[in-house]
Amino acid sequence: MKLNNGFLSWNKPYLFQDLDDTYRNLPDDVRGDVISLAIGDPDIPTPQAIREAIRSEHRTHYHGYPSVMGRLSLREALSDYYWQRFHVPVAPDDIFIGMGAKTDLFDISAVFGNPGDVAAILDPAYPVYCDATVFRGQRIHFLTGTPENNYRPVLNESDIGNESLALIYMCYPNNPTGALATSDYIASMIETAIRRSAMVVHDIAYSDFIPGNTGSGAFSIFSIPGGETAGIEIGSFSKPFSMTGDRISWVIIKNKAARDAWKRFRSNRDSGVSEYIQAGALAALTSDEVIREVRNNMEIYGQRRDVLVSGLKQMNICVTSLQNTPYAWFRSPIADSRKAAKIILEQARIMLTPGIGFGPAGEGYLRATIFQPSDILQEAVRRLSLIPWNSITQTD
Ligand code: PLP
Repeated sequence: MKLNNGFLSWNKPYLFQDLDDTYRNLPDDVRGDVISLAIGDPDIPTPQAIREAIRSEHRTHYHGYPSVMGRLSLREALSDYYWQRFHVPVAPDDIFIGMGAKTDLFDISAVFGNPGDVAAILDPAYPVYCDATVFRGQRIHFLTGTPENNYRPVLNESDIGNESLALIYMCYPNNPTGALATSDYIASMIETAIRRSAMVVHDIAYSDFIPGNTGSGAFSIFSIPGGETAGIEIGSFSKPFSMTGDRISWVIIKNKAARDAWKRFRSNRDSGVSEYIQAGALAALTSDEVIREVRNNMEIYGQRRDVLVSGLKQMNICVTSLQNTPYAWFRSPIADSRKAAKIILEQARIMLTPGIGFGPAGEGYLRATIFQPSDILQEAVRRLSLIPWNSITQTD
């Protein structure tokens, strides 16, 4: 057997797999009592009209191979959505419907860049950018986000020197910190990318996940000059529409050469997304009923956010605002976030995500989701407040 060297060099399990294994190995009676605030999977059911659209299409249509780019009606609806939401013109032909943003993101480095090239990756951020980079033999250059730089770290080109930069991965609204980008910040990344023949991947999986329904500062990379040359935007139906299990996303590329390469890759790699799942996504974008339901859900998420954030703050835990994503990002009682998460799981039976899973800059932090009803979040806060934090600090 000859295992892939990049895979070998990244000798660690996928973050959420690791957490899941820890949870499954707990004794039965303990496991039943655990409150999981670890994984970003919405607990509010998929809106009824989306489920109806999927069911109806499934029942009434032949299940043949779909188009690899996605059905035109869905791409037209996304084009309208982009105009309404971001005031950005996007042609249906610029859009590819994908099988989940995770898969799209993992595939980017199969098309853009070569083994040995450098990928500049926002840190902390969704771990898949790093995993894909090393699996393809590319090298990671971390862009270290901190509260001081508002999680918008500068790409210092002298650190990369003459090496070949292939990709820059940006994730805003950011998982896990909830930070937003500014257009100037993304413009600086685009400017570097164009000069160095690289592409900027802009992951907007949370652009419409707005707890409290108060508006979001998310924007499209195509609203920024140069985005049409060096931008790849990836979005997902998963979080706002509770469609994580349906596996449906989009990739938008305006640069013709890059778009042709992606189309060639996709037609070699897969055969598109099931028509009935696409029918559900179309309902997500076009049904007034879904729009109303999602708006209502965001208000529910806002109430949950208030429960979690006020509870953590009462414990004097330093927490980010939780306005733009379903996550609270807060200081771990000890620097080793994996160890802290394990102690909290044992002592309070609450599962949190250790910050280190999002990159080295995540160390010293923990992440909690609001994908649990308010009464469970209240109970989680109560249990956390009973932990003798001093005793955890002493274990460090
Ligand atoms: N991008 C970010 C920032 C995420 O946090 C996630 C999932 O948690 C994804 C992409 C993956 O989304 P999908 O369910 O479409 O694969």
